[in-house]
Amino acid sequence: MGCVQFEASPRAEEYREKLLRFMDERVYPSEAVYDEQLEASGDAHSQPAVMEALKTEAKERGLWNLFHPHGEWGPGLSNLEYAPLAEILGRSPIASEACNCSAPDTGNMEVLTLFGTPEQQDRWLRPLLDGTIRSSFAMTEPDVGSSDASNISLSIARDGDEYVLNGRKWWTTNIFHPHCEVLIVMGKTDACAAPHRQQSQIIVPRDTPGLTVVRALTVFGYMDQEGHGELRFDNVRVPAANLIAAEGDGFAISQARLGPGRIHHCMRMIGVAERALEAMCQRALSRTTFGKRLAERANIQDWIAESRIELEMARLLTMKTAWLMDTVGNKAAAVEISAIKVAVPNTALRVLDRAIQVHGAAGMSADFPMAAAYASVRALRFADGPDEVHKLTIARRKLRRHDPEFRT
Ligand SMILES: Cc1cc2nc3c(=O)[nH]c(=O)nc-3n(C[C@H](O)[C@H](O)[C@H](O)COP(=O)(O)OP(=O)(O)OC[C@H]3O[C@@H](n4cnc5c(N)ncnc54)[C@H](O)[C@@H]3O)c2cc1C
Repeated sequence: MGCVQFEASPRAEEYREKLLRFMDERVYPSEAVYDEQLEASGDAHSQPAVMEALKTEAKERGLWNLFHPHGEWGPGLSNLEYAPLAEILGRSPIASEACNCSAPDTGNMEVLTLFGTPEQQDRWLRPLLDGTIRSSFAMTEPDVGSSDASNISLSIARDGDEYVLNGRKWWTTNIFHPHCEVLIVMGKTDACAAPHRQQSQIIVPRDTPGLTVVRALTVFGYMDQEGHGELRFDNVRVPAANLIAAEGDGFAISQARLGPGRIHHCMRMIGVAERALEAMCQRALSRTTFGKRLAERANIQDWIAESRIELEMARLLTMKTAWLMDTVGNKAAAVEISAIKVAVPNTALRVLDRAIQVHGAAGMSADFPMAAAYASVRALRFADGPDEVHKLTIARRKLRRHDPEFRT
């Protein structure tokens, strides 16, 4: 491995400055407006008008599709260039959508860029890149342990010029977003193939007959604006041309989407935690108990220092991972990708928990962002694979260095 290079390119620095200005001038002041408009609508899943205004402005400022690594479709930033921008976006719950950089659309756009036919790209990728529609990714199923993707059992059966889908999904994020028009669905096309060739991915328009959104799931009691749905597929028919790549390519497609997706999540979470640390310091300086400001208490200084140290370590590991992905590829960076997926959510949760504690009871309320942030970061110890499965990846690779035959 060569020397790790973190120096920002002039182009990345230019984007950083523009994005910081957009956050200060438009995004932070819009957070309260967003919440007010959402509440006033009486529908937890409605799209606040301020979001559409932010999207228009982000586009005009050239802060659009920053995540997209392929030059012909987006700004073509490397992972190392995008990572600090994702951290800035993560500081606000509304910034990623404003800049068309939210999951799961980013992963879906990446998949359609890499594997989509020109027809699939015209029909779905272009409007996603324009931000006129949004999308979902449906893999997890209620009936099987979905940490192990080979368990996924929704059936995708060929019938003439069509595929017919039958089965159940849940935790399909974004399905309640009013702009969600399309899903990428993972299912089984051949139960007799080798374990990693049984699955395929297919495009399903949201309004296809037979697709029922059964209910919305809450996260720690929060009803997220984009929604997480339980879905039923009863003889859902789509054209055979909706299949992404070939039958049996489902696993390979998942691997392609998850590398960059994980680094985006991690950098956003560092942004969430940095903002919580700032709030922790401000609160500790502004509250007094037993004749002293909270900031003067040794335990609170310890929490602040621990948070600073842990965040610095988490960021460095994430930047190193981004650099490795850019220089040796996602496959060679698999251990580091798994490592940050475990390290960063756990670090961010510790920082959020300390910030909540310093705020007293107020920290649990919706008056401050930490409680909702805690719920969404906690979910990332499951989403894109639970901690235990990532640790398995790391341990297996290490053990095979000592015993190449090692199997679990
Ligand atoms: C807010 C949120 C949003 C989500 N969005 C999406 C989405 O958009 N699309 C989608 O498809 N899914 C989504 N998910 C689902 C997520 O990807 C799954 O929850 C995850 O993959 C785990 O699958 P499971 O829930 O079936 O857990 P299971 O597979 O039932 O596993 C349960 C637990 O078993 C343990 N475990 C599993 N395997 C091992 C092992 N090998 N060794 C040791 N312990 C193990 C882990 O602790 C794990 O948490 C979302 C989840 C949340 C919470």
